[in-house]
Amino acid sequence: MTALLLLAACAGSPHAPVPASGTGSGAAATPPDDPPPAPPGAIAGANGRVAGRSAQLAIYVPAAGDRLPEIARRMLGDAALDWRIADANGLWEPEAGVPLLVPLQPPHPMGIAPDSYQTVPILCYHRFGGGQSKMIVSPERFEEQLAWLQRNRYRVLRLSELQGFLDARQPLPERSVVITIDDGYETVHRHAFPALKKYGFTATLFVYADFVGSRDGLSWAQLQEMASSGVIDIQAHSRTHRNLVQRREGESEAAYAQSLLDEVRHPRALLERRLAEAGVKVTQFAYPFGDANEQVLQILQREGYDIGVTVNPGGNAFFAHPLMLRRTMIFGDHDLNDFKARLQTRRPVGSRP
Ligand SMILES: [Zn+2]
Repeated sequence: MTALLLLAACAGSPHAPVPASGTGSGAAATPPDDPPPAPPGAIAGANGRVAGRSAQLAIYVPAAGDRLPEIARRMLGDAALDWRIADANGLWEPEAGVPLLVPLQPPHPMGIAPDSYQTVPILCYHRFGGGQSKMIVSPERFEEQLAWLQRNRYRVLRLSELQGFLDARQPLPERSVVITIDDGYETVHRHAFPALKKYGFTATLFVYADFVGSRDGLSWAQLQEMASSGVIDIQAHSRTHRNLVQRREGESEAAYAQSLLDEVRHPRALLERRLAEAGVKVTQFAYPFGDANEQVLQILQREGYDIGVTVNPGGNAFFAHPLMLRRTMIFGDHDLNDFKARLQTRRPVGSRP
């Protein structure tokens, strides 16, 4: 009977987390404070036994063949919360008979541990294909990096998913990473787009408006296709790619201020108009050459941008300035070890970024 009840509860609300014991609301079919051990056959891949349980934690003893997504579905109400169990135990493959700690409450939203805090790396690519420039990553190397992220259970997040973490309200998996690509080269469509699709990952593409439709640049049709696919978020990287912190020779204060406004406003208006069918909304900005000053930040803020990214290397803690996020460049001559070294997901307390 309990098995049927559990199944019914999970089938009815696959994404609603099961409230922790004692919270009451909406828990009609969920176990009370001391649930009876679930008999075998409740959920394939989660046939183990709940050995003990408090409001915060449960001890779950896996059966042979149990898997974390199914255990998360049974215990937390959502298979996609498997990372909470993985992070709490430091493993992804449960072993039959070896007890697991199941955190029934969300982890600390700011990713703080006694001696360290969580940081989310944002990777920055430019071009893909052949050639000697270090700005070009070969398709083979890019795919090797994506395969490594997948094998090592990284969650590739959308940049917009960082917002809740930066507001200190949304916990993220320990192994979180964001992929971004700058400028809008045509090779993004040829190489990066199919590779990202293959691995089920997403990325943010920052294009500068004047580059679209040029010889090496992406066409509007390609941008439309990638945006509609849901794989690529398209965001702004200025209009002309001028360095926003350097005033041109003879450029008056007023002309500089006007130019900055145009560099911020124009790409948003253009992208949202030309890619309206894909529902593109521009709220993120990558500074050309990674450079911004107080004046640029004030304009972005006034214009309603949520996120700005630099090329200052390192991961991003919850207290990072959302308009000055760090990004780590991935160059063509980086091998897999160089790549791994750039995935900073935790920083010891007291250390510099
Ligand atoms: Zn650029």
